[in-house]
Order: sequence, then structure tokens, then C-alpha cells
Amino acid sequence: MEQYCILGRIGEGAHGIVFKAKHVETGEIVALKKVALRRLEDGIPNQALREIKALQEIEDSQYVVQLKAVFPHGAGFVLAFEFMLSDLAEVVRHAQRPLAPAQVKSYLQMLLKGVAFCHANNIVHRDLKPANLLISASGQLKIADFGLARVFSPDGSRLYTHQVATRWYRAPELLYGARQYDQGVDLWAVGCILGELLNGSPLFPGENDIEQLCCVLRILGTPSPQVWPEITELPDYNKISFKEQAPVPLEEVLPDASPQALDLLGRFLLYPPRQRISASQVWNEVARTQELWRHLCLRRWSSCKASQMTLGTQTWKQYYLCRSELEFRMESGRPEKDFICKAIAGHKGEIDELAYISTNEYRFNGQEKSVVCTVSSDATVRAWDLHEAACAEGALYTLTVPPLQLLSRVSVFPSNRTSLLCSPDRQWVFASTQNSDLGPKVFHTLSLLCPSEDEPPVYTTLPVELTSRACWAPAEAARLTVMHRNDNGMQLVVTTYELEAKKTRNRVDILVQQIASFLLPDTMMPPQLMKSHGSQVILLVSGSELVLFTVHGLQLAAFQDHQRPITSMWVGQTRVITSSFDLSLRVYLWSKDNKLPVLRSCYHLLGGSHRWASGFTHVESDSMSIVGVEARNIGTSILRSYYFKVQRG
Ligand code: ADP
Ligand code: MG
Repeated sequence: MEQYCILGRIGEGAHGIVFKAKHVETGEIVALKKVALRRLEDGIPNQALREIKALQEIEDSQYVVQLKAVFPHGAGFVLAFEFMLSDLAEVVRHAQRPLAPAQVKSYLQMLLKGVAFCHANNIVHRDLKPANLLISASGQLKIADFGLARVFSPDGSRLYTHQVATRWYRAPELLYGARQYDQGVDLWAVGCILGELLNGSPLFPGENDIEQLCCVLRILGTPSPQVWPEITELPDYNKISFKEQAPVPLEEVLPDASPQALDLLGRFLLYPPRQRISASQVWNEVARTQELWRHLCLRRWSSCKASQMTLGTQTWKQYYLCRSELEFRMESGRPEKDFICKAIAGHKGEIDELAYISTNEYRFNGQEKSVVCTVSSDATVRAWDLHEAACAEGALYTLTVPPLQLLSRVSVFPSNRTSLLCSPDRQWVFASTQNSDLGPKVFHTLSLLCPSEDEPPVYTTLPVELTSRACWAPAEAARLTVMHRNDNGMQLVVTTYELEAKKTRNRVDILVQQIASFLLPDTMMPPQLMKSHGSQVILLVSGSELVLFTVHGLQLAAFQDHQRPITSMWVGQTRVITSSFDLSLRVYLWSKDNKLPVLRSCYHLLGGSHRWASGFTHVESDSMSIVGVEARNIGTSILRSYYFKVQRG
């Protein structure tokens, strides 16, 4: 909070007070929403968690208020949003007469774009109303207050609370107590908002829930099972009955509105939720295509490497729904009630590095082994069987995570700065510690997965000290390059080994063969990143410079494209991408004119949020490659994806 100076109070809503504030250093004006935790033991309220989650997911839309940061404060926490001058409720209140048609159209367009975006991302806002539609100084409308938003699963198998949406904008199915609903509730609210813009005052201003239904009935007529078959299944259908009433034509309700506006209004204000026109008409079409789901999956989970293996028998849509459901449960669920989460028991150290050594990174069928390997500050390397299972229990899902099973454990490192790397074929796990004179270890993965009682896992210690970086050659099964100090500790050396597992009866021996080694030039600053390409090329990042060597030490190229130090590097089959504190991403292309691959500087991608880029994940196929960049900020983590067409020839 110290970084902000409070300028005044802007609003107060159901879940917290909102202040206007200025960032002390940057001068940026923001809106701070303080969310108090009434009782500490409650933990972060689901409501707030949903807000954070929903906003993070739709960070990219210009029609959704941007969440800049989240930080703890006192017994609660604070959400910092971009500051918005006004809201639509205020605009309507201060307008002398109903807004001009052009104004209504422009607000509606922005609202629909925002809503379509949310729905395309499987988010139902559930509380759309003029007070939650903020207007920027330049007149841009953005959706705010995601307190009630939730990620929904369109199969409709989950039960939700019906106490959502401020009464006047509440959809009829909610008024009849529906516990299963979808984006239709937002579309109803859009209709109410459009009506209010045309009318100059709320269309259905009910004073209590029963009266609310009366207001709707007075205009739309009494709903009958003929026009709305599902109504008979709604919980409160039989509890209330109304006398037959015919609908009133909308042109009588809003005599000044244009026929086009009324036609559109009538397509939102329909009893059957499924008949309401979708925020983006095309969305329903697109939603059926695999492409959208694939796109959503890759955007959300860089690590779902787009392989058929990840999917198993599932479609992208099933995968998306299954996984987002799981994540939603994990994040918003109450431990012991909604799910059981067992931590790694008996693990004293802090886990420094973690690597999946099963071929699939995530599994949802809960049947196969999913193994992770950890290196931790208690100086051990351990392999765990991570098993996830989601099973249906009545209508509610219960997620059970059984205790992780420790497969093996070896104490090898006394110090705690460690790294862990799997070989491309996952046959080997490299583990090392930076500040120790114990050499780095290479484990034979199979022996970590199937340990026998009396035999320790099979590993070997490389004959080098003070290793700082390592990488596996992507084009070779067992070629490992390490960067380390030479014997007197004065110079940096890059050494490449080849490993082989020799099986004799019931023993496995590891043979290590050094195939190349070279000293780095004295003039070079100690590299902070090292990666391999093919089987022969090593890429080193030293400060803001990218230098290429062969494994034998022949310098192939050096690039000085970045203004400031490079923070991460991704090396693929067709290109190399670097990110830097200068906020840009640089893209390089490999070409194969010679025997050795040649790298060409190609173009750069500018954008403020690459500042914290901390990781690249990728998918490469014959025709396209996708690179996800994870950008971190306080409390938030944003994933961007870039799609590249692979050039042939
Ligand atoms: P609640 O969930 O409590 O309704 P909101 O997020 O809707 O919280 O905020 C309450 C009020 O605070 C809004 O109606 C609006 O007037 C004001 N407000 C919220 N966010 C901002 C913002 N980013 N900029 C300016 N005012 C805001
Ligand atoms: Mg609000």
C-alpha cells in the first residue's frame, strides 16, 4: 500500500470500498478496491478469488477493466485497477433525456464486445448493470466488478447459486430459482441495460423479488410452457402463479425508440435463455469448431504441448472444460469440503526445482502414472507419483488428490541452489547445485521410477566442479553440455558429454564420454543462459549479448540487438526468441545453407508486458510454431502466445 497515496473515496459496493489513488513513483492514477476478510480463518473469500481469476483470464480485452496488481493488505487484500472516470449509471442519471441513438449504439457495441469476449472465454459475469460498466475519460466502456463472475461449464451439470445479479437486471430463470444457468443471464442483463439506455430509466424496477417478476410479466406477458418449456422444471415455478397476461408490444413501452433498436431489444428479452441472441452471434458457430478450443487451451496452458498424447481420447473442448473445472475447484474450493488436497508429507525442504518425467505433463484420466521429480533445499532428489482423480458424486464434483507417493529419494547435495533438467527423451535427469564443490549428477530415470528396496537409484557424478549451467542437445538422446569453472576456478569452461546406459544382467552402469570442451573467452561476461540447438551448437547469453559457439568452441555468431540484459531465451527448431529488460522480444531464424545451422536476426516484437517474461513454452509442428511467454507481475501471471508460420525451403 505504501506505493500508493490515497486521493479519495469513489465508491462502495457489496464487497469492499473503492478508493482513487496515485502511484507515488509513476504518478499513475488507479482505483484501489479493498477487500476485507471479515474473519481471518475464512481465508480469501471466493468472491474475490473469482474476481481475480476472471480478470486475469481476460486481461487481453480492451472492454474489460484492467487489473494492474493484487497485494495483501491488513487482514485482506487490495486490487489495483486502471482508473475510470465514470460509469454508465452516472451517464444515464446525468443525461437530460434518453441518450441519442448514436450514443446508445456505441455503448451497446462496446458492451457486447466485452460480453462476447467473456463468454468466448467461458466466463459468465452474472452482475451486468450500468453501475458495473465503467467509462474512461475517452468514453470507452469497460466491464468491471467480476465479483460474481465465474468460469462456467456449458454442459450445465453444475449447480450455481441463484442469488446473483442485482434484482432489476436479474434474468427470469433466476427469479424462478434456477440453479443451472449459462451466459443467457448476461444476455438478459444486456437487454435490460439496452432498454434502460433507450428509456432513460430502468425497464424493470422491481422492489422485491416477487414484484420483479411482476414487472417482467407486465411487459413480456405471463410465461407459458408453450413459449418456455423448461419453465416447468424451475424450482419456484409451482410456488408462484400469476394471472394470464398478454405481452405488451415493445413499441408501446418505448414509443421513441427506433424499430431496429426495438427489434434487437426483443431478441435479448426472451424467456427461454437459449433463444436470446448471443453477444456475438458468430460465437456459437465458432464455439463448435475445434480451432477455438485449441486456441483457448494453448492460450491458457502453455504446457499442454498440443500433442495428441495430452489429449488422449478427449477433444480440445473436453480437455478445456475438464481442466478449467479442475483449476476452478482447486482455486475456489474449500479444503476438505470441496476437495482434499494432501501436501507432500514428510518433505522438510523447500522445493527448488521440479520436472515432470512422465511423458505426459498432465493427466486427467487418473489412471496412468504421472511422475514428477524434485530437487529441494533439504539436499535431496526425489521422484513422486502424482495422481489426480476427479470423480462424480451426485451432482457435485469432488476432487481427491491422494497422498503423493514417494517413489525414491536420494540425498546428494549439501547446498540448496539447485537445478534440474530432463533429457529430450526423458531417459536422464540432470541435477546440480551451484555453490558446491560436489559435481553435478545424472540419474537414469528408470531407476527413479521403479526403485527396488535395497538399491539406490542409478546415477553418476560428472567430473567437474562449480557447475552453473547445463543443457541437453535437442537432437541427441543423451548429449549434455555443462558450463563449469576450470581446475583453478579462474575460467569458465563449456564441456559436452555423451551418456550411455550399459545394462549387464540386473545392473545398469552409466558410461560418460567427454566429446568436447572449450574455454570461454576472458573478455566474455559469465553467461546467464545457455541452450543447445541440434547436436552441435551452443547458444550463450551474456548480458545483452547472444553468442553462438559449436560444441568445440568455434564462435559462429554474436548478436547485440538488445539494449538491456536478456532475461530469457527460447530455442526451437526453426527460430530463437529472446526477451529482455528493454521490453522487447527478438526473433531469430535458423537457416541451413551450410553444414552448420546459421542464425539470422529477423524482427522484434515490442510490448510493455514482456518486461517480466520469465519463461517460454512452445509447440512446434510442420506448419506452425506457437510460443507462449509467461509474464509475471505481483500476484499475477500473464501468458501470451505467438503463432508463427513455419517457412519452408
Ligand atoms: P462492488 O463489487 O462492491 O459493487 P465495484 O467493483 O462495482 O464493487 O465497485 C464499486 C464502485 O466503485 C463502482 O460502481 C464504481 O463507481 C467505483 N469503481 C470501481 N472500480 C473503479 C475504477 N476502476 N475506476 C473508477 N471507479 C471505480
Ligand atoms: Mg458493483
